[in-house]
Formats: sequence, C-alpha cells, structure tokens
Amino acid sequence: MKEGVCSHIEAVTDIREPARHECEECVKTGSSWVHLRTCQTCGTTLCCDSSPNRHASKHARRTEHPVIASAERGERWLYCYPDDAITEY
Ligand SMILES: [Zn+2]
Ligand SMILES: [Zn+2]
Ligand SMILES: [Zn+2]
Repeated sequence: MKEGVCSHIEAVTDIREPARHECEECVKTGSSWVHLRTCQTCGTTLCCDSSPNRHASKHARRTEHPVIASAERGERWLYCYPDDAITEY
C-alpha cells in the first residue's frame, strides 16, 4: 500500500474481495442497499452510508475494524474510518 496514508491502510497488503455481491445484513432482513463495501479485517461485505441501514459503518464502530474497500466493480479504493482517510490502489 501507499505510504503516508495511515497505519491501518498501510497494514492492508492484500485487498479482500467480496465473496458475494450483496450486503450480508440486508439480505437477512430483506432490505436494500445502494453501494457495497468489504471490511478489510474480516472480509464481510456490507452496505455504504448512502444505504438506509449503513451496515458497513455500524460494523466498523462495533468491531473496531478500521478499513473498508469499495466492493463496487471498477472502484479501487480503501477507506479508514478512524482516520477518515481514503486512498486508491
Ligand atoms: Zn487509519
Ligand atoms: Zn446493509
Ligand atoms: Zn470486519
């Protein structure tokens, strides 16, 4: 990863890809989402802050897993919640 972003993003060496292209939590409740993000600590794919349930940021707060990657095709970026830092890869 690029240097000078934050230690959490620097610690990501292999990008975790979404196992399935759906929010794991929204699927359970039949909810919908806008965009998908994949947690880089545990690999869970959840929905973004534009989605009604904002599962990815809830997951980050609850688990303290800091970094997500966009799970959208064609998007290649990482975001760190605690540092509010974003970087492309
Ligand atoms: Zn960070
Ligand atoms: Zn969701
Ligand atoms: Zn996680």
